[in-house]
Amino acid sequence: MAGDFSGKVAMVTGAGSGMGKATAILFAKRGAKVVVSDIDVKGGEDTVKQIKDAGGEASFVKCDVAKKEEVQALIKKTVELYGKLDCAYNNAGINSGIGTPTADYKEEDWDALQAVNLKAVFLCMKYELQQMLKQGNKCSIVNTSSVSGLSSHPVAPAYVSSKFGCVGLTKTAALEYAKTNVRINCVCPGPVYTALFYKVDEAIPGAAEAVKSIVPMGRAGQPEEVAECVLFLSSDEASFVTALAMTVDGGMAAM
Ligand code: NAD
Repeated sequence: MAGDFSGKVAMVTGAGSGMGKATAILFAKRGAKVVVSDIDVKGGEDTVKQIKDAGGEASFVKCDVAKKEEVQALIKKTVELYGKLDCAYNNAGINSGIGTPTADYKEEDWDALQAVNLKAVFLCMKYELQQMLKQGNKCSIVNTSSVSGLSSHPVAPAYVSSKFGCVGLTKTAALEYAKTNVRINCVCPGPVYTALFYKVDEAIPGAAEAVKSIVPMGRAGQPEEVAECVLFLSSDEASFVTALAMTVDGGMAAM
């Protein structure tokens, strides 16, 4: 079956909500054993419950991806629980300070955002790669960037920079490991109906409504539509795909 993850182990960060939750659930539905990770215990445990209620296998591991020791412990725990790590989805992200132009943007907001959206992607990939290279089998890493990682827009200097950085980091690592069994890609979603999306609407009133005119399809996406793309990139069917920044945006990046 296309996208059969039976016998595989997947780990998803930010899996307590939104796209991470939808992707963890889809990995489990397609047969993977899933490590559901988040800083939010309630959200993460709810994802595990949904997976188990549907007959799947999952465990929750709390991790603040901005903390090196916690990321190292997350990978170690994944291997302790399920013996290996085949598919990693580095997805946790925040958009604090959005709505503020560069001259007014607080340094502490900049640091906090880069720690979660960019440095954490580096930390996760570093320890995932060490484990995957040791295993030697076919493995995949997918990161979450954004259409904001491909073209800029105002009043989100830290967010846009972090997502451009995520694309650069993804492509660099993909080239470094292209001759190994580890493929590395990222998804670049347009607006998607999640908690983060509604925070943008609070910070920039009218943002949710504006989606109808800025997205060619006239709507935001559903988390499950992004999850399907993450699973394709993670699957053996994508065996010749690496260093891709895949837009999942209803056509937005083409405008
Ligand atoms: P969401 O808020 O629903 O989910 C994000 C999850 O990340 C939450 O469960 C949160 O607890 C977790 N998280 C936050 N900080 C963390 C930390 N330090 N350590 C571990 N987990 C942490 O939002 P979402 O829209 O599903 O966001 C997922 C990713 O998609 C983010 O990287 C976001 O930037 C990106 N993105 C979102 C949109 C959109 O419109 N929703 C568009 C493009 C990209």
